[in-house]
Amino acid sequence: MLVDGFGRVATDLRVSLTDRCNLRCTYCMPPEGLEWLPKPELLTDDEVIRLVAVGVERLGITEVRYTGGEPLLRRGLVDLVTRTTALRPRPHVSLTTNGIGLSRLAEPLREAGLDRVNVSLDTLDRDTFVRLAHRDRLPDVLAGLAAAERAGLRPVKVNTVLMRDVNDHEAVPLLRFCLEKGYELRFIEQMPLDAQHGWRRENMVTADEILDRLTAEFTLLPDDAAARGSAPAETFLVDGGPARVGVIGSVTRPFCGACDRVRLTADGQIRNCLFAREESDLRAALRSGASDRELAERWTAAVAGKRAGHGIDDVGFLQPARPMSAIGG
Ligand code: SAM
Ligand code: SF4
Repeated sequence: MLVDGFGRVATDLRVSLTDRCNLRCTYCMPPEGLEWLPKPELLTDDEVIRLVAVGVERLGITEVRYTGGEPLLRRGLVDLVTRTTALRPRPHVSLTTNGIGLSRLAEPLREAGLDRVNVSLDTLDRDTFVRLAHRDRLPDVLAGLAAAERAGLRPVKVNTVLMRDVNDHEAVPLLRFCLEKGYELRFIEQMPLDAQHGWRRENMVTADEILDRLTAEFTLLPDDAAARGSAPAETFLVDGGPARVGVIGSVTRPFCGACDRVRLTADGQIRNCLFAREESDLRAALRSGASDRELAERWTAAVAGKRAGHGIDDVGFLQPARPMSAIGG
């Protein structure tokens, strides 16, 4: 098992398949993009599966989420999902995506065994989308969402980051839209993980503010707190249910004490936290001939040293060197 010094057990593996993206969400990337990882540094499909298999077969990983960057840009994605769902014990396999290309890929991904999908959607307004993501792709995202629903990747979850004076007035319309479509919406507080280091606490739209906006229009009843477990979202039944909405207060209501995540970057580094300042290089070990057992030992050691919390409130807090897109959100 992957246990850290505080007794937390990591069972949820987030795998970044690429640091590239076809959007430039301002809370994540600068408009001009970033210097992408050189191809030889990226794990190949076989290497990804080898490491995921070590996690699943030897280290108790039960949930695998492919992310990025934009994972739909990874050519071998459908095959990776097929190979991941063939592992035993079969892990739960999901995807976090901006939805562009999902209208074409939702069905093949479902056939490959994908269990669920999270699609990021921050606005329903085309101009705001362009302002926020620097690309005119809102129709593609909406088409992707609809395709995921049609393919049966249910419940389709929607992730939203609100930014002050950009889309914070859309909390209610976004929830109405998701209720109407049957999507499960989760708001995520903006974290200091953008490549430009532009995050300011005073600009962050907090979980409290989001809930204030929502409760002005809807009755929100806290869902059974026990059901939250290690899930970061506080969920609420909307207008008596069964529809629900989640709020992830990563900064103001941290859930580090119950965190069960570990991350593998596209270039094969294990990170025990989004905000970790150290990484453990599994790619180098793998390419120099390490056995599965040796890889598992390295991975176990990397998780053992996980810190108690993200430390955003600490005086000496330093943003990690890699931005969200390169870590895997
Ligand atoms: N490109 C895919 C997408 O956008 O869903 C997957 C990668 S993206 C980094 C994963 C999630 O992280 C998205 O839901 C995105 O909104 C969120 N995210 C990115 N930067 C963030 C930040 N600074 N704070 C909070 N969430 C962030
Ligand atoms: Fe791309 Fe996702 Fe980052 Fe937006 S949040 S720029 S879609 S990786």
